[in-house]
Amino acid sequence: SVTHKIEHLKSAVYEDQLPEHDLPEVAFIGRSNVGKSSLIKAILGEAPEARVRVSKTPGHTKVLNFFTVGKQLCLVDMPGYGFHMPEHYEKSVEGFLSSRKKLSRVIFLVDGTVGVTPTDVTGLNMMEEMSLPYIIVLTKIDKSKPAVLLKNFMSVRKYIDQLPACLQQPFLVSSLTGEGVELLQAFIAHVTGH
Ligand code: GDP
Repeated sequence: SVTHKIEHLKSAVYEDQLPEHDLPEVAFIGRSNVGKSSLIKAILGEAPEARVRVSKTPGHTKVLNFFTVGKQLCLVDMPGYGFHMPEHYEKSVEGFLSSRKKLSRVIFLVDGTVGVTPTDVTGLNMMEEMSLPYIIVLTKIDKSKPAVLLKNFMSVRKYIDQLPACLQQPFLVSSLTGEGVELLQAFIAHVTGH
């Protein structure tokens, strides 16, 4: 886990509320229940501040949350999207993605127990329209039988060819066992210049 000091910098909905800072940003996005909070917790480690703030409290998860990791980077927890995403959340996400000058990467989460869903496709299309660099991370890889995980992995591999802005190699993680988390941390350190 990360040994740097984790601080919750700000929560924001609208563009004029976004924090100003000099750190490179890495943002996490995925549909609700994809395993985003669990992965962010696994990446940030057991920092009490992170444990409190990355919560499932209604009204708190559907805003952008900014966490500084030492003087290295700023991790951004984006609202989990789904079928009932109110318009202002969509505006919030698109406002953020289109305005951040120091956004190094977006980490796009796909549920490894499910594979690519129509909701994921909507999000992936938005990423391609923004043409920001992003990666796909398959979550919960401990949960499926290998044959099922392979099928879901192949569904991503097949789809990824159509996503030019996406790194062609997806990452596989389990927040439960920690598998793949260190590799993802190393990737984040790499793209943020450390
Ligand atoms: P979020 O809505 O995207 O923030 O998803 P959560 O992190 O809250 O996870 C949704 C559900 O999946 C919860 O019941 C988690 O315990 C479970 N979950 C998340 N990550 C993993 C994982 O790596 N392995 C397993 N087996 N379950 C997970």
